[in-house]
Parts: sequence; structure tokens; C-alpha cells
Amino acid sequence: MAIRIKGYKWEFNLIESPEINAWCMPGGKVAVYTGILKITKDDAGLATVMGHEIAHAIAQHSAERASQMTVAQVGGGLAGAAVGNKSESTQAIVNQLYGIGAQGLYVLPNSRKQELEADKMGLSFMAMAGYNPQNAVGFWQRMAAASEGAQKPPVFLSTHPTDESRIAQNPRDLPEAMKYYKK
Ligand SMILES: [Zn+2]
Repeated sequence: MAIRIKGYKWEFNLIESPEINAWCMPGGKVAVYTGILKITKDDAGLATVMGHEIAHAIAQHSAERASQMTVAQVGGGLAGAAVGNKSESTQAIVNQLYGIGAQGLYVLPNSRKQELEADKMGLSFMAMAGYNPQNAVGFWQRMAAASEGAQKPPVFLSTHPTDESRIAQNPRDLPEAMKYYKK
């Protein structure tokens, strides 16, 4: 893990916005919106979100998604590009993807596999930070409840689909996380 996170520049931003949202970018830039605080409710809830976002950054989910997208776009884009421009267009697409990061990356929904992986890692991270990982499931339940009957579902849910599988997986991940939790 030490190698994986080498070169990361962790940055945590609280954004004043009623939007229920949080996201991460490759390299360790994490943003939490004040709107999500009513769902996180307490420190353990906030630690759940932060642990989850940090996990996405460490597992390089955004980078993975970005490079998948790059491959797809390069494939399509190069078809019409002059051969001489090849590396230049590839570079431009990569620059564009990373340059517009905040728009281009976090709006992509995380895959279910990535979500469950981030949940699992996130639980251990919150435990290491001194928060009881048993509280995490409460946050996801409140998040799921917030979308019920809402005219517009929370933005967070568009990138972090919350369904029963997430809540069902929690008890399976808890024992590992509890090893890191010191009361
Ligand atoms: Zn997620």
C-alpha cells in the first residue's frame, strides 16, 4: 500500500453546498459537500463517507475508469485521425480527461464492484481512524432512505448506487474492519 499511495497529495475539501454529494479524484483530492452532513449525522457517519472516498482514491478507481474511457475514446477518436497525429490526439484526450477531472471523472458512476471494494476498504480505514465500523451501515441506510420519496435523488447516489447488495455485504466485511478498531 505504501507504494500505491506514493505521490498522492491528500486534500480534503468541505464544499458549502446543499447538494448531497462527496467525491474523490485520482491522487487524493477528496470533496465532501455540506449537504451530505445531514445524512452522515455524526462523526462516524462522516468517517464512513471519507473512508469510502479515500478507498476509491487508493484503489485507483477513478484512474481505472479514466483509462478504460481513454482506451474507448482513443479507439473511436483515432479512426479519423491522421497517423502523424496519433500520439498527439492520445495525449490530448488524456489531458482532457485529467484536466477536467472534477467534471469528467466523478460524474461517472462507480461500478458495483468498485463500490463494494470501496465499502470494504473504507470500513477498515474508518476503524483505523478510531471510528466504530459498525456505524457505517447506518449511513448507507439513511442514504437509501433519503432517496425514497425525494423529487430528485441525491447526487451522491448517481455515482454511488446504493442498493441492498451494499447493505447486505456489510456484515461480511465487518470482522476484518473490527480488527483495526480499538475502543
Ligand atoms: Zn463509491
